[in-house]
Amino acid sequence: MAQLLEGTRVRDAIYEELRPRVAALRRPPGLAVVLVGGDPASEIYVRNKVKACAELGLASEKLTPPDTISTDELTALVRELNEQPEIDGILVQMPLPKQVDAREVLLSVDPAKDVDGFHPFNVGLLVGNQPGPRACTPSGVMRMLRHYGISVKGKHAVVVGRSDIVGKPMAMMLLHEHATVTICHSRTPDLAATCRRADILVVAIGRTAMVTEEFISEGAVVVDVGMNRVTDREEAERLFAGDARRLDTFARTGSVLVGDVLPKAMAERSSAYTPVPGGVGPLTIAMLMANTVEAAERRQADAQSWIDGRAG
Ligand code: NDP
Repeated sequence: MAQLLEGTRVRDAIYEELRPRVAALRRPPGLAVVLVGGDPASEIYVRNKVKACAELGLASEKLTPPDTISTDELTALVRELNEQPEIDGILVQMPLPKQVDAREVLLSVDPAKDVDGFHPFNVGLLVGNQPGPRACTPSGVMRMLRHYGISVKGKHAVVVGRSDIVGKPMAMMLLHEHATVTICHSRTPDLAATCRRADILVVAIGRTAMVTEEFISEGAVVVDVGMNRVTDREEAERLFAGDARRLDTFARTGSVLVGDVLPKAMAERSSAYTPVPGGVGPLTIAMLMANTVEAAERRQADAQSWIDGRAG
């Protein structure tokens, strides 16, 4: 029977590790979350991030500029946050309205406060395998593999998806842990055959249960990053045939979450897999908390050495 890789357990372990580190700081780490406009999905993500801060004793500040904001106004707001000493991490929730140049906004974040790890400076640190804030979702996946004692070294890892926030940093992290890495995308011919060569298969494509039995070799480890909401009854019944609990969720709420991998395929063919929900999802926020604590530690240590230098 395949082992379930439970993100909630790993998240709890991460929080236990962070609590004493937060307590040891001179002031609570501060995270500023910028939410432009009222996108309902983004509001839920931001609410969960603010909630996680409260749970861990981090100070959070939520800024909600209107969705008519310009690139210049938003970068000015970010620069103000860059200057605020009590703010250690800045997160600009994506997506941004069309008139805003997201790249410009990303570049305006002080790399030392870039807790999403998306700034090109920090991407460079990742590529060079130097310490720095890392993209939260893939670093959560690495943390999950470590937690469950799944070694990456010498394995063939196949990453499906090449986005800047998941696929590319995921591939780089696996490479640094000595996996042989193949990156696939929408132009990869015979995707199923390439996926079948994976010892570790990470899927981040945003396509409801597209990865089926024929993509998974017997005994592979499967990490399903996808999060797709199914609202069609027939589709839910097809995806979760025989799974009374999930079908009951659909009956009660009118929707159900499913990843990019067919749940039954993971359960039947893999040696270990991440469920959706409850797999990778909880780790993204946990790693955001870890990045914020680390940024606070680094900034407070820097400030202390500056004071020590002046005293000396
Ligand atoms: P993007 O849309 O930015 O990237 C999707 C990638 O998948 C692209 O590289 C695309 O290829 C590739 N792709 C799309 N369709 C196919 C296909 N049919 N065959 C092969 N490759 C394909 O998505 P993200 O990386 O942002 O997110 C991916 C998924 O992960 C989503 O479901 C998202 O909701 C989820 N997610 C979950 C998180 C969590 O916390 N659990 C956090 C972040 C994302 P190409 O480049 O050629 O277009």
